[in-house]
Amino acid sequence: MHANCPGCTQPDVAFAPHDHARCTGDLMALAEARMAEGGGRMTPVRRRTLQILLEAHRALGAYDVLERLAAEGYGNQPPVAYRALEFLEEQGLAHRIRRLNAFTACMHPGEVHAPAFLICRACHAVAEAPGRSVGDALAVAALAVGFTVERATVEAMGLCPGCALAGPDADGGRIAPLRGVA
Ligand SMILES: [Zn+2]
Ligand SMILES: [Zn+2]
Ligand SMILES: [Zn+2]
Repeated sequence: MHANCPGCTQPDVAFAPHDHARCTGDLMALAEARMAEGGGRMTPVRRRTLQILLEAHRALGAYDVLERLAAEGYGNQPPVAYRALEFLEEQGLAHRIRRLNAFTACMHPGEVHAPAFLICRACHAVAEAPGRSVGDALAVAALAVGFTVERATVEAMGLCPGCALAGPDADGGRIAPLRGVA
């Protein structure tokens, strides 16, 4: 639990109204501190990629990121985006959301955690549910059959509170606007 970690202080930060400028600032500061402590080098393109991921609590595909980077003059070759995203993932600053083949910024940079992702299928908002209890339950169930879990990714698809209000057809041909981001 980090006092200035948005993911810790407000676990539903992706779905609920909050001071997003502060949330982004806190997460960037945590990321920079982590890199300064001996992580990798935060190059301009890596920093910008993290900022793009932090703009909304949403999963973004590598091509969405590449489009943004290219528009800002960072180069338009796919490896530019892939390498930056892979770096952020390796450093624990971003997560890969396999179900969407996309990436999202980590809400708990620098903390040991086994995230359980809550992914909105309508607006692609992603929250990291407090993963400890989910991970513990899995470990116990696995142990019962003699299996040792080394790595587990939990991705739950569904509807965020805002999209659930719009009804089960929230993603019917239309991407709902992002909610909860001031
Ligand atoms: Zn935020
Ligand atoms: Zn995380
Ligand atoms: Zn949603």
